Amino acid sequence: MERDQWSEAIRRWVEAHREEAVELAASLVRIPSVNHPPHGDEVDMQRFVAQWLQEAGASVDMYLLDDVPGLKEHPAYMAGREYKNRPNVSGSFWDGEGPSLLFSGHADTVYEGHEAWTYPPFGGEVHDGYLYGRGAYDMKGGMAAAMMAVKCLLSLNAPIAGMVHIESVVDEEHGGANGSLAGRLRGLEADMAIIPEPSNMRIYTAHLGGGIWKATFEGKSGIGFSGEELVSALDAAVEFAAMLKAFREYRCGRMAVHPLWEGKRKPEVTLLSLHAGDGSRELQEKLPATGELNFWIESYPDVSGEEVLAELWAYFDAQLLHYPTLAQCRPQIKPLIRYLSGSEMRRDSRTEDFLRIAASTGERVLDAPAAPPQGSPFACDGFMFNLYSHTPALILGPSGANAHAADECLDLESYHRLIRWYAEIMMDWCGMTPVKG
Ligand SMILES: [Zn+2]
Repeated sequence: MERDQWSEAIRRWVEAHREEAVELAASLVRIPSVNHPPHGDEVDMQRFVAQWLQEAGASVDMYLLDDVPGLKEHPAYMAGREYKNRPNVSGSFWDGEGPSLLFSGHADTVYEGHEAWTYPPFGGEVHDGYLYGRGAYDMKGGMAAAMMAVKCLLSLNAPIAGMVHIESVVDEEHGGANGSLAGRLRGLEADMAIIPEPSNMRIYTAHLGGGIWKATFEGKSGIGFSGEELVSALDAAVEFAAMLKAFREYRCGRMAVHPLWEGKRKPEVTLLSLHAGDGSRELQEKLPATGELNFWIESYPDVSGEEVLAELWAYFDAQLLHYPTLAQCRPQIKPLIRYLSGSEMRRDSRTEDFLRIAASTGERVLDAPAAPPQGSPFACDGFMFNLYSHTPALILGPSGANAHAADECLDLESYHRLIRWYAEIMMDWCGMTPVKG
């Protein structure tokens, strides 16, 4: 078959298997796999994926993180998580000598949240071309697309010359990423990796870094009957919130735009939560003695968490005269998660080849030129590949909406196109063995 005929065969196969593809993504959504540090409930999802891979003909590896030598000693390992009954899974297809490709996704999701959902968060319902549910977009849809793409090429008997691996790791959300690190230390490397995080069908060759910190405030409480000098931890926390917003403007103003984020928003400083005072009684007439404020700060690649915090403290000390309560009530700041490093995929002749393939096959399935590679507006576990393994990784996943929020949904039209895109990439990257006769 000529290459164009393969594209047509892929297109027709995906068209004929739309229902099966939607059912697969919905099935993944219906298996709750919520990460709630230090634990996570990925095991049922992982068993499902392992069985699916097995039935599709993969050689499957399912293992516990605790059984991966060197994991806990690795400098990028984040301590404090529990990995009992949380296995990683991978499956390998074909075993040719040609180039290999690894799809690496995370099995876990964030929890369903407190907001009301229009459709049940673990129902996997389809409405108006969208599949709804926690993880539909981030990132069970992308995982299902990789699975269907492999199934497509197997069904078509495509003589793939290299190897394709599909990996489902635990504990990516909430600053995790130990699951991805475990996969690398387990020895699963490839010539290229695709992380199916929701990229809205764009090719991200880099991703932002970010971390969550907690600032705690200790004031002097009371009601001041005897003229003591009191310090409100709430006032301090509110001043700190204002200072963080000013820091955001200041930082944004002096930061040069990274070329991969041209025309995009700059890395953010985001206030996440604020608590102060004794929340156990509704009526309070004393100054709050304690307060805490959680915040998220992002950066471009090549910035460490220590550097982010040092920049914040330098700003804090320079601005203190504008914040009288903060001057009396200096916060303690500690990280709540590991700093998720930003990273950029290695660029050399091999990865340029891959990008050319991704662009040309993208144009075929999108019916329009693919957007040039750019940086993602989110942090993820890509740095475990780009900084700590031999496998360069980019991000390419479906369109959708409301990641981590109520009514998370996967755009099914993009999902079907993504299945084709992945299949086309596998074909061109891993190559095809000339069929004799
Ligand atoms: Zn994700």
